[in-house]
Amino acid sequence: MTYKSNYHTHTTFCDGKDTPETMVKKAVEKGFVSLGFSAHSLYPHAAIWHLPVKNFEAYVQEINRLKTEYKTQLDIFAGFEADYFPMVTELSKEIYRKLNADYVIGSVHYLPVSLKKKAFTVDGSLEEVKNGIETCFNGSGRKYVECYFETERQMIKYATFDFVGHPDLVKIRNPVLHFVDEEAGWYKNEIKQTVRAIADANTFVECNTGGIARNFIQETYPSLFFFSELYKCNVPVVINSDAHKAENLDSAFDIAEKTARAAGYTESMHLVCKDGQLVWEAKPF
Ligand SMILES: [Zn+2]
Ligand SMILES: [Zn+2]
Repeated sequence: MTYKSNYHTHTTFCDGKDTPETMVKKAVEKGFVSLGFSAHSLYPHAAIWHLPVKNFEAYVQEINRLKTEYKTQLDIFAGFEADYFPMVTELSKEIYRKLNADYVIGSVHYLPVSLKKKAFTVDGSLEEVKNGIETCFNGSGRKYVECYFETERQMIKYATFDFVGHPDLVKIRNPVLHFVDEEAGWYKNEIKQTVRAIADANTFVECNTGGIARNFIQETYPSLFFFSELYKCNVPVVINSDAHKAENLDSAFDIAEKTARAAGYTESMHLVCKDGQLVWEAKPF
């Protein structure tokens, strides 16, 4: 990869294992041109595995300190991975801009049904997801998946952010729990509808390798089918590792590039500063 970067990075400020500075040092060692941090945010709700709201300022300050200290070696950005959790979170670029964030990832980890029952995350443990499907969806994997994509489409329509995080994260436990057939027509139709929503909103999507690095799945989020549909609709893509440890900063980037190329892509997005403004710019792999 000519321009190696990652805009989806977790640290000890939320559920990551390494400090931001350890991440920066590793990124320099790996030849990254830029590194963006993306602390989990459930704003304005109290944190679960997220960055507590009271620590937002300290987090941005620390990333900005590193930005200055390492400016001759790579570009560093302070971002957030903000949860879209209807009735719980507020997700708008405006809110995060006031907190001096450089960019925002919009992600769905929680489904609205969780409000009535016990909250569970789609990337929770096998037991948590199995119980969630049983309790909240009467054991129907299809209803569960439909609810996930519907929630994501709501986020795309009503919230504002820079790009969509791991757009088919819901499949993470499917290789073990087998709750849906990803080749089924209805499943592909959910993907097509979601791609249309993404294209209509003029936003873009990440290619996330986090599930491969942690050995949950063998492919990226999104799948090759999802990717090909995105390409047909001219939706740009950014390649990210969703690293929770320094050693995983560029995990499976070769698979991400291969999948992106197979779908037709030759470029990915990078955050750059132009005339004092941060803009996303496509550069060749
Ligand atoms: Zn996430
Ligand atoms: Zn993440």
